[in-house]
Amino acid sequence: MLRTINNIGTLKGKKVLLRTDFDVPVAKEEVTEPFRIQKQKKTIDHLLAGGARVAMAAHIASLPSFQSVMPQIEKILGRKVRLIGEISDFHNADESLCLLDNVRRYSGEEKNDMKFSKDLAKRFDIYVNNAFAVCHRNHASVSGVTEFLKSYAGFIVEEEVRELGKCLDAPMAGKVVIMGGAKASTKIPVIKNFINKAEKILVAGVIANDILKEKGTNVLGSVADSDSKQLLSGLDMDSSKLVLPEDFNEFEGRFLDIGPKTISNYVAIINGAKMIIWNGPMGVFEDSRFSGGTEAVAKAIAGSGAFKVVGGGDSVAAMNKFNILDKFDFVSTGGGAMLEFLAGDRLPGLAKLGYYE
Ligand code: ADP
Ligand code: MG
Repeated sequence: MLRTINNIGTLKGKKVLLRTDFDVPVAKEEVTEPFRIQKQKKTIDHLLAGGARVAMAAHIASLPSFQSVMPQIEKILGRKVRLIGEISDFHNADESLCLLDNVRRYSGEEKNDMKFSKDLAKRFDIYVNNAFAVCHRNHASVSGVTEFLKSYAGFIVEEEVRELGKCLDAPMAGKVVIMGGAKASTKIPVIKNFINKAEKILVAGVIANDILKEKGTNVLGSVADSDSKQLLSGLDMDSSKLVLPEDFNEFEGRFLDIGPKTISNYVAIINGAKMIIWNGPMGVFEDSRFSGGTEAVAKAIAGSGAFKVVGGGDSVAAMNKFNILDKFDFVSTGGGAMLEFLAGDRLPGLAKLGYYE
């Protein structure tokens, strides 16, 4: 059973180490997709309202430091946040809310070094993990610190396992999984897990190219993985549940989007679904010439009465672009973590919060 914030008891005066997820895309020093920061607000507000002092630890991949985006983070959270350069500065000041700058600057973070974990933990009373997106990582601020502090799941982690858990547990009838995009090595395990749990799995993008290639279709110069045979081993590629594109928007000898027949077939299946789990765009949606498949499928999902879940950085960005993110019942903050969870894997960060006990 997951230990949650509600199991903490009194928060008054507690010093809390909070693992947040602020790993947002940034262009020209501007946060281009604030969704993950917005999602943190509820847990931060709850801890502070209860009288706790909160020190956050987070990483950002697109910048060396949070410095330039602090005004945006503060605006989204509606609070002053003191940026801390070194662990030893944690709580030297009176502020109730601070953020340790980019925790992945420390070599001990990704190595899950115990000395580093102890150093991170030592000024605090409890640890709260509100970063579902890194729960598949055995890192110090996710895993190691729990050796030294009583640990709890924040509202995001609680919500993610509840909503994604529904995707795994719901009856097979009417359950449709849609998998597109690239990074087939993270997505094919999800297909393998759902082939016996879903009614249909609709495939597109690079994953479709991989499967078609292995089945003997000439995918021309399309992007496909060189290790696709290995990635697909154990998957019944002839299963009637696995639905593959039958035509493409082809450009310069590459399949860059699904074609009109595929779109209408996928839309018909979506219209009959009771539950839709979506990750990965149908094509190279960043280019408007190849975004038609993603847009048509997205709009069909948005208009369906099914329980709908979406996740993945690019998929969420695409939904935002088409202005339909609010039509989903649940939007996961996890990319890799969501996929590992849906593949049925054990996530180390969740294990440390008691989820598998
Ligand atoms: P998410 O972030 O939602 O999990 P991915 O990162 O796996 O999605 O995939 C998104 C990327 O896949 C996009 O950059 C898109 O351009 C690319 N992509 C989708 N279809 C194709 C295709 N047919 N050929 C090459 N790239 C593709
Ligand atoms: Mg992506």
